[in-house]
Amino acid sequence: MNLADSEIILGLLDKKGYDLTDDMSTADVILVNTCSVREHAEQRVYSRLGEFKSVKRKKPEIIVGVLGCMAERLRSNLTDKKAQGVGQIVDVIVGPDEYRKLPTLLSQSWHGEKGIAVQLSRVETYDDVAPLRTNGISAWISVMRGCDKFCSFCVVPLTRGRERNRSFTTIIHEVETLSERGFKEVTLLGQNVNSYQNGNHDFADLMKAVSKVDSSMRIRFTTSHPQDMSDKLIQTIAERENICKYVHLPVQSGADRILQLMDRNYNRAHYLNLIQKLRSAMPTVTLSTDIITGFPSETKEEHQQTLDLMEQVRFDGAFTFKYSPRENTPSFRMKDDVPEDIKTKRINEIIELQNVIASEKNAQHVGQTFTILIEGESKKSSDEMHGRTDGNKMVIVPCGSYNVGDFIDVTITRTNSATLFGTVQQHLTAEVA
Ligand code: SAM
Ligand code: SF4
Repeated sequence: MNLADSEIILGLLDKKGYDLTDDMSTADVILVNTCSVREHAEQRVYSRLGEFKSVKRKKPEIIVGVLGCMAERLRSNLTDKKAQGVGQIVDVIVGPDEYRKLPTLLSQSWHGEKGIAVQLSRVETYDDVAPLRTNGISAWISVMRGCDKFCSFCVVPLTRGRERNRSFTTIIHEVETLSERGFKEVTLLGQNVNSYQNGNHDFADLMKAVSKVDSSMRIRFTTSHPQDMSDKLIQTIAERENICKYVHLPVQSGADRILQLMDRNYNRAHYLNLIQKLRSAMPTVTLSTDIITGFPSETKEEHQQTLDLMEQVRFDGAFTFKYSPRENTPSFRMKDDVPEDIKTKRINEIIELQNVIASEKNAQHVGQTFTILIEGESKKSSDEMHGRTDGNKMVIVPCGSYNVGDFIDVTITRTNSATLFGTVQQHLTAEVA
């Protein structure tokens, strides 16, 4: 979501003549787009801002801006000189619904004025802003902003505001443009894409229409809330060949009492039923989830129920988080009573189990052939490239006569818990098999 927002911000600044630089020493403006979901994310921003102190000492006229959720949440605290020593270096603070004001605030900053814009909006979707995309293969498209779910642990409805949807027509138009420009993959984004509604069109209608724009383009989406995952959407994913058979469905906990305290509005049985529906519609679907461990009052037995659910579902991947109390959320009033060492023990058990499951599932792919979209050079070796399967699994292949953006057929030769390794069978250029 932040990557997509950064591209919107770059789109707005590009129009005013700003250029992007990879070299901080040449920058006139440094903008940090921030996340507030957990305290850890905020601490990282503070230490990053600390690093900019020496930059500002050498070049006092440089403008430093903090954008996004942390700007929304901490507002003037960020310019307060006491705020972890970074107050004196922050010039501009802009929340997620005020990016249009950024060019004006930057020009005022050139004249020494600090600027803050943190109003949330019920209508802003940046529908008319062309994002400046720096990757020419895969594009993020925000189809909605904000969230109305108010899960008790989550700061998002407070920092990103209420749910609003972009227009069906402009999203389709954006996908058409991306197809003409040679993009190979789009991911429709929202905190809870399943509740997308524009006129008579729901999210399943949107996915179907987007998938019809260019049958050689891969279509992905994230994130789905289990309460709103409709049969119609499951059917649409199953029927449309170029909609990737990969679903990220955050469960958060395997214990009903905890799900209720989290205000998630579904129980374990509902979640397992959804998994069963997804698998019967698409036997090869890959599934990932989010899990929070150590939510207030979570017992050892409830933690065990989460592990049991993981064994039952056998996710292909999981993003795991220790519960982090967030000011002004409903669960902030609950006592954060699971001690840190127990949270660590529980998260380690979850990660270990997930690694075992993912290793076993990946090992079953040895000998199978997948079409992968080449994304770039492997991080570990310049002799290798990496790409992804339709099911979002990372595959490493030796370099060959193919380039970033090509689809190639690969037979898997070995695997570990995070990655598949393979040999190339066929170079398909721009076709989705
Ligand atoms: N909208 C998505 C959903 O409901 O599934 C999730 C968006 S949230 C930004 C991403 C993940 O961060 C959540 O699924 C949750 O696991 C985690 N998260 C959110 N608030 C958290 C908190 N206070 N402590 C720990 N993890 C948190
Ligand atoms: Fe946060 Fe819940 Fe909304 Fe996801 S659905 S963004 S967890 S409030």
